[in-house]
Amino acid sequence: MKYALLALALLFSQTSLALAPLPVTQIAPGVYMHQSTHHWPDRDNHGEIANIGFIVGDKCVAVVDTGGSPQQGIALRIAIKQTTSKPVCYVINTHVHPDHIYGNIAFKAPGVKFVGHHKLARAMASRAPHYLGRAEETLDIRVNQDHIIPPDLEVKDSMTLNLGNRELLLTAHPTAHTDNDLSVYDKTTDTLWAADLVFLEHIPVIDGSIKSWLAELDRLEKNHYKLVIPGHGTPVTDWPASMQPQKAYLSDLAKEIRAAIKQGKTLEQAVDSVGLSAKDHWQLFDQFHRKNVTIAFAELEWED
Ligand SMILES: [Zn+2]
Repeated sequence: MKYALLALALLFSQTSLALAPLPVTQIAPGVYMHQSTHHWPDRDNHGEIANIGFIVGDKCVAVVDTGGSPQQGIALRIAIKQTTSKPVCYVINTHVHPDHIYGNIAFKAPGVKFVGHHKLARAMASRAPHYLGRAEETLDIRVNQDHIIPPDLEVKDSMTLNLGNRELLLTAHPTAHTDNDLSVYDKTTDTLWAADLVFLEHIPVIDGSIKSWLAELDRLEKNHYKLVIPGHGTPVTDWPASMQPQKAYLSDLAKEIRAAIKQGKTLEQAVDSVGLSAKDHWQLFDQFHRKNVTIAFAELEWED
């Protein structure tokens, strides 16, 4: 037993040693981010396609999303260790998508609390079998049920975490990108870590509700933030101007789908005709747009 544990410890340390720290940039005082490029998750990038990072307080560190693979989670953990001697106390998952949660296991340790939207655990339970079942084939990574770590702390409306002289305000949003979107607002630097609530160059991806997402964007638009971090790509300093293309894409989509429904068009006809003029404005349009139309059509078909 003792040797087995030793071997395991050795393997673990070798895994850590073999991995380089994840490149991170300090984008505001004490706010560190690994910036993703826009890619479809595949076997080459192992699903490591999201912005992830951490925020350092006087007492401890909060991780915001852990990456698309267990290895990326370890690489992030190494980056944190190289940046600060303070321990990780919170791991915040902004939502259920694998590119944001598959690194969780790298942070599972005594004293670390996982934090998420109150609907995150349910979403993990219902999505996990599907995600896990295809991870090896589509992402070339090995994950199992142990990698799906639900939150210890569930955010119902909002929650404040204190990292020592640094407060993070977490907000559980109504259904938008998904039904379990959580944003992180760092009061110290006036930074909103919006994750996939906000899409800038990467086409918005609807996995929740187009109507409710638009309503949430209307609310967020009224707030002032010095810095906004999207789930993918470059953070922005010109909020809310930077969010207008996303709003336009979603509202045009809703408008055109409503018109198609009114004209008696089928889902297939709508998929082939709606919103195609937006194609040149967005990266990964071909991968996500038709799916967006399908999901939004199903939602808007049943509205009064
Ligand atoms: Zn997402």
